[in-house]
Amino acid sequence: MFAGHFGLAAAVKAVEPKVPLWALMVSTQLLDIAFVPLLLTGVETLEPIGDGGYGANIIHADYTHSLVGALLLSLIAGFIAWRVWDRRSAVVIGSLSFSHWLLDLVVHRSDMPILPGNYGDFPLLGLRLWELPAVSAAAEIVLVLCGAVLYFIAVMKRSRGQASPSNRVNPGVSSLKQAYLAGTLMSVLLVLSFVSDYFGIG
Ligand SMILES: [Zn+2]
Repeated sequence: MFAGHFGLAAAVKAVEPKVPLWALMVSTQLLDIAFVPLLLTGVETLEPIGDGGYGANIIHADYTHSLVGALLLSLIAGFIAWRVWDRRSAVVIGSLSFSHWLLDLVVHRSDMPILPGNYGDFPLLGLRLWELPAVSAAAEIVLVLCGAVLYFIAVMKRSRGQASPSNRVNPGVSSLKQAYLAGTLMSVLLVLSFVSDYFGIG
């Protein structure tokens, strides 16, 4: 589910051009970024189902992917964005960070606790869309395509807006070219991240 999160970041970039793209990308993946050191130290673990692969894992990310843990990480990310940029960026970054948990909730195989460390042994959450790999892959492709298309439209629009009245007949060929390049690059990256995701690298 790497690509789907990135797709959302691209879509948000289209409507919130002020926040840097890298910050949007990092915040959609923040929970998984926090997961890496905990995975390496064995605090959180991955349990493959069969041969593993796309969506075939029970993920014991009891801290980073607990509801309260995700809320805390999102609040911290939002707070940092508020200090670095402004309030609006803080809301965007905080919500985007938490969107990771919501998207994961749809696909995860009921392995997400409510409290960190599964304290209190409450029921584990997850709507298990990964049990239907074709359906969850299709949903992820839709997210990726929406992100790519929205991003493409936004950069094209912006490059047209930048063309000065004097060269409106020939609206800034170089900035249009740059916009095409940015849009294409983003689409390729999104598709690649989906491919790597699907074949079990992500
Ligand atoms: Zn995750």
